Formats: sequence, structure tokens, C-alpha cells
Amino acid sequence: MPSPPLAVLIVEDEASLAAPLRRGLLEEGYAVRVVASAESGLDELATGEYDLAIVDWRLQGMDGRDLILEVRRRDSNIPILMLTAMRDLDHRVAGLDAGADDYLTKPFAFEELLARLRALSRRIQDTMSKPASHEIHLKFGSIEMDTARRTTTVAGMAVDLRAKEYHLLEQLLRSDGHVVTRTMIAARVWDSPFGVTDNAIDVTVSNLRQRLARLERADQAVLVETVRGVGYRLRLATAPGTQS
Ligand code: CA
Repeated sequence: MPSPPLAVLIVEDEASLAAPLRRGLLEEGYAVRVVASAESGLDELATGEYDLAIVDWRLQGMDGRDLILEVRRRDSNIPILMLTAMRDLDHRVAGLDAGADDYLTKPFAFEELLARLRALSRRIQDTMSKPASHEIHLKFGSIEMDTARRTTTVAGMAVDLRAKEYHLLEQLLRSDGHVVTRTMIAARVWDSPFGVTDNAIDVTVSNLRQRLARLERADQAVLVETVRGVGYRLRLATAPGTQS
């Protein structure tokens, strides 16, 4: 049975770019809508009808970065490909920090855009086709988790985690380096977005950090990085002392 087409939202104010992009994606079998402002983009994404979003950084009014921040603040994990101009190198980092999954620098080849979209859509299809209970092996850097046997190892050594620490680490591993918001942690680790204090989350994060740090060599450490005002994510340490 053929699967329904993936729905892509393009947020781009330059018609000369948006029009051929739309046409090309339609030809590739995607369902496509184009909006020219971040504000309209937010309205569209609020419908929950899209599988992927392509967001230009430079827009009139609210910019692409603020759009992405707001989408993530609303706990949407829709894959977002950000478009930046060649001259705006710093935008790439800022965009990824804001919650974009990938970026493409203008001008780009259409084939490359297609490849990036395929990679992003594979990710969502993997997520949809593998229910949580069937996910057995999670890995990030030197950390490995077997969710069927409920075991965790760091650099091959077994680590004993308390229930909350285990579930927190599981969420961080599942998001594979992307931010897990405090709201998501409350909902998935405590099974309730209500009645969980920020302090309880902080303490659990801090305990998890200590348990991981005890077992890791500095040159292969995985950091539980704080993303200020948003949540946490896993990151491979590049140098000692960079943990925030
Ligand atoms: Ca633009």
C-alpha cells in the first residue's frame, strides 16, 4: 500500500526561490504549501498537518530563527531544514541551537535539498514505524542502552541508574543530540507535565551527570548539556571543561 505523500511547509518570502522549490517538490511527490512569513508559518504548523518544514532565516517581520524557537517551545518535534545565506555563517549555529535539524546554504542544488529532506523524512518514518517498546538498542557516543533488558553501559562498563535517571537518559538518547525540553522530561520521565518542580528535574540531571562522569574518559565524554530556557541534550565533549 503506498504511503500518503509527506506534507512539506515552505516558509520563504522570496517568490523566485519558493516557486521553483514548490514545483520541484510537487514533482517529487511531496504535498507542498508555501507561506511568506514566520507568522503564517506558525499558524500552518499549529494545524499539525505537516511532516517537514523548510524555513528561511531571513524573513520580513519575525525571522526564521524565532519561528523555530517558537515551534520547539510548543513542543513540536517536526523536522526543520533551515535555509541560510552564504554570508550568514553564524546563522547556521544559531539556527541549529534554536532547534533546526539541519541547514542548507543558498544557493544550493535541488538534488541536495532532496537528499536532506529524504534523510529527515527517514528519521520520522523510523520513529513512527518503531514503537517505543520495540526499540532495543540506543547509542550516543560511549553510552549504550538496551531498553529490553534495561541495562546501560558507558564505555562498555555497566552503570547503575535510578529509575528517573534511566528514563531521563533514555529520552536524551532517543532524541539523539536534539533538545529534550523540560516539558517533555516532565511528561515522559515523571509521566505528568504537572506537579514536577524544576528543582526535581535539576537534581535528576545533576545526578545523571555525576554517574556518567564517573565512568567516562575525558576524551570520549558525553555531556548532558543545558540549553538555557529550553531543556537538555546530549553532546560529545570536544574539550574538557566545556560543560555548561
Ligand atoms: Ca528570505
